[in-house]
Amino acid sequence: MAKAIESGSIFENTKKLFHHALKHVKLSEDALKILEKPKSVLEVGIPVRMDDGRLEVFTGYRVHHNDLLGPTKGGIRYHPAVTLDEIKSLAFLMMMKCAVVGIPFGGAKGGITVDPKHLSRKELERLSRAYIRAIYEFIGPDVDIPAPDVYTNEMIMGWMADEYNKISRKLTPAVITGKPVSLGGSLGRDDATARGAYYILKEYAKKKKLDEKKLTVAVQGFGNAGFHIAKLLHADGYRIVGLSDSQGGIYTKNGRLDPDSIMKVKQHKGKLEGVYCVGTVCDIIDHKKISNEEVLELPVDILIPAAIENQITGRNAGKIKATLICEIANGPATPEADEFLRNKKTIIPDILANAGGVTVSYFEWVQNRAGNYWTLERVHKKLKEFMVNAFNGVTSLAEEKKIDLRTAAYAYASGRLLRAIEAKGTTEYFRE
Ligand code: NAD
Repeated sequence: MAKAIESGSIFENTKKLFHHALKHVKLSEDALKILEKPKSVLEVGIPVRMDDGRLEVFTGYRVHHNDLLGPTKGGIRYHPAVTLDEIKSLAFLMMMKCAVVGIPFGGAKGGITVDPKHLSRKELERLSRAYIRAIYEFIGPDVDIPAPDVYTNEMIMGWMADEYNKISRKLTPAVITGKPVSLGGSLGRDDATARGAYYILKEYAKKKKLDEKKLTVAVQGFGNAGFHIAKLLHADGYRIVGLSDSQGGIYTKNGRLDPDSIMKVKQHKGKLEGVYCVGTVCDIIDHKKISNEEVLELPVDILIPAAIENQITGRNAGKIKATLICEIANGPATPEADEFLRNKKTIIPDILANAGGVTVSYFEWVQNRAGNYWTLERVHKKLKEFMVNAFNGVTSLAEEKKIDLRTAAYAYASGRLLRAIEAKGTTEYFRE
């Protein structure tokens, strides 16, 4: 693994964007040394008895990047491509994301190298509980708080919190967020990521005095985040003209796509179709089928990557026509694409655009610790406050320094982290 890092890994690539921002924020040598390295890295073997009697030992990880601003926070990913290098990179991004929105958490991430689609429900439960037994000492409500990520969900978070409680013989709901509401989860967590991005887009439109009803939008990825952002924008009159999922996309040049109707049919038929439904009756609207690559290149005002990483690359960056890109996916643009697009388009970067999820996770942790549960209206109001504050902070810095929003977001987050490091003393202070 160390070799992969030396030879230019995902972790090193992620840090390239941060290094670019360092031209615009004065970080001391001390701060750089602390921010560059993970605080602790845990690799575990997780033995699980499979349904056919075999014993499998899965590999799992948990990385704390640092806890400068509070206990570490980050999701748990189940995917066959999970590596320590990837988990380190995601923990670093979580540190930056929490610092951008100003929530009192450091960055962490966890994962298991597994294809959950090949496990039975019972095997999935055994694996999830065994993972918690393996990392038990590494997590806790004042230490490190996991949450869902790719291919983990609220039921899995419920199993994990339950296993933690059994080991500790105490009920500690604040140890994990993204739990079902009936087990101490927060209202509003389901669409929090999309809603956070929605509040930012609304603020951007207000700032630029854009006529929202005239704006056209394409969304890549029609999962949790992609569906909710399309639905929220559609309800406000934005014209959703392109949508895609892993199997391909649909585009309507003159019409508008109705996210609810399309989701209804997708759940039934397993694929996207250009339909408009009233009750149970669905009509086909004028549209054409397009590929996943074509969705990114549509002639729209706003492009929202909400699928997976590395979709916008040096190869297709020049073909993007949207003037605004709002990154809901983590790392949808490679460093090469970012460099090409940086001064040509407005990019609302992932660490700002998709921070709504971790912000509502923070609200869940606060509610669990207080034993006092919020209404949905309160969750939305507080989420809007955090997202708009972060957006205003980042855009002001971008305007002041004449830099792009990604660079500004990293610089803004680094400023917060720097102040926490320097509050404990600097080299100058100790050099008497
Ligand atoms: P999801 O699994 O619910 O949805 C992903 C969607 O992307 C699916 O519809 C899938 O079909 C589609 N997809 C996969 N490969 C694709 C491709 N090549 N082209 C087009 N579509 C493709 O996941 P999600 O929770 O919606 O997360 C989406 C992205 O947002 C991820 O990058 C995730 O890390 C990021 N994110 C999500 C949250 C959250 O709270 N859900 C928070 C922060 C960041």
